[in-house]
Amino acid sequence: MPRFDAIGPLRAATTGWRAKGERVVLVPTMGALHAGHLALVAQAHALGRRVVVSIFVNPTQFGPTEDFSRYPRDVEADLALLAEAGVDAAYLPDVETMYPAGFSTRIEVTGLTEGLCGEYRPGHFAGVATVVAKLVNQVGPDIALFGEKDYQQLRVITRAMRDLDVPVEIRGVPTLREADGLALSSRNRYLTPAERALAPQLHATLSRIAGALAAGEPSAGPVAKGRAELEAAGFSVVQYLSVRDAETLAPVEEVVRPARVLAAAYLGRTRLIDNVPVVPIG
Ligand code: AMP
Repeated sequence: MPRFDAIGPLRAATTGWRAKGERVVLVPTMGALHAGHLALVAQAHALGRRVVVSIFVNPTQFGPTEDFSRYPRDVEADLALLAEAGVDAAYLPDVETMYPAGFSTRIEVTGLTEGLCGEYRPGHFAGVATVVAKLVNQVGPDIALFGEKDYQQLRVITRAMRDLDVPVEIRGVPTLREADGLALSSRNRYLTPAERALAPQLHATLSRIAGALAAGEPSAGPVAKGRAELEAAGFSVVQYLSVRDAETLAPVEEVVRPARVLAAAYLGRTRLIDNVPVVPIG
């Protein structure tokens, strides 16, 4: 599997593929790869002839008190997984390549970024939108794939690419979960065994709320009950638990069109996020 660290040779490869009419699909990641990332790679193979996976732990999307320096990094294991998955190119730029001296540009998406994670992670989505725009400009893919696991991120990136007329199709991929419902995440490895045992309650609670809403209940009751359940189960801080329109992320009182139940909560020092769809019945 070819590995690229510099923009020029990477662009030469992807430009050559596209000139032959081969569709290129990009899967951006921060490494510490798990089966959730590989589900995106599998979907990428289904959508295009050439699959490029980027690995870049993007410093600008981490807040000053967040886990940038201790974010898990295991490049050799990641490259072995990607080679086994038949990826056509791995792209591993370093921080100087992405943010050379004098770098001064930031993409701010308004509205969509103002609640949910945006409220607790100031600057996070500007970091994400900016790095994704750069990766897409560097790779030049026809399609870029993102997990529904990071649902607000998926909406923000879709909006940013559309607003800036970037010629790429952004697609979401459903969340891959452990058998007990916990969404796969690179951060799950921070959980102690006791926390790991509690963690599936997040998905269970979201699913219960989604069931009540799909059956026509207004959101306030199930959301208040769900929050109390999470706190009773041992989640130390529930940052948000909210029902939002699936596209605009506007708060939803009663589900009449596709919606999403989203949450962020801490188990000890580890922040978990998850979300599930709500499809109104009838
Ligand atoms: P990350 O390396 O955490 O930035 O994730 C890279 C991509 O993989 C993002 O688009 C994530 O939404 C996606 N992803 C992470 N975990 C999962 C999962 N459990 N299922 C599906 N996609 C995921």
